[in-house]
Amino acid sequence: MEKSLSTYRKKRDFKKTPEPKGKKGKSSKNLKFVIQKHDASRLHYDFRLQVGNTLKSWAIPKGPSLSTKEKRLAVLTEDHPLEYANFEGVIPEGEYGAGTVMVWDKGKYKNLQEKPMSKCFKEGHIEVWLEGEKLQGGFALVHFRDKNWLLIKMKDEKANSRKNPVKSQTKSAKSGKSMKEIQAGKK
Ligand code: MN
Repeated sequence: MEKSLSTYRKKRDFKKTPEPKGKKGKSSKNLKFVIQKHDASRLHYDFRLQVGNTLKSWAIPKGPSLSTKEKRLAVLTEDHPLEYANFEGVIPEGEYGAGTVMVWDKGKYKNLQEKPMSKCFKEGHIEVWLEGEKLQGGFALVHFRDKNWLLIKMKDEKANSRKNPVKSQTKSAKSGKSMKEIQAGKK
C-alpha cells in the first residue's frame, strides 16, 4: 500500500464512493497529468501531476489561465492514486468531495528542470510542459506559504492572454460530456 495515499483513503468510504481506492502503481517515464473539474461545495479545478507512483494534487479555484500575467492560487491537497486520472462521475452526497467530477483535460507532461520531479516538489518549484487536449505549453507551480502555491503560465508560443479555456472549453476530455450530462448519468 502506498503510504502517501493514507490520507486519501482515510477521507473516503469506498463502499459509498465510486472513486478508486488505488493500487500500488508503477512509475513510468511517460508522466501523466489530469485536470478534473469538480463541482463540490465550491467549483474548482483539481490539477494533478504524476510524481513517482502517485498524483500530486492541487485545487485551483479559478482553474488554469493561458495568460502569463494571471497567477492562479493552487492549494495543495492529498496525494491521489494514479488511476484517479481516469475518474469521472459523481461522488455521492455526504461523502468527502461530494459532487460531479469531469476529466476536463488529460495528457502527458515533461519535467522542464534537470532534476527529479520529487526534488522539484520538495523545493517548491515545478516547471512542466503539458501536452494535453486543452492545455499545452510550459506551466510553473511555485510554493509560497503553507499549502498555497501559484500556477503560472510560462512565456512560450502557447501563452495567449485572449483565450480562456476554462470558459470556452466546457466538455470532458474523456467522454465529451458536459457537467450536466455527467451528473445525469449517476445511478
Ligand atoms: Mn476537488
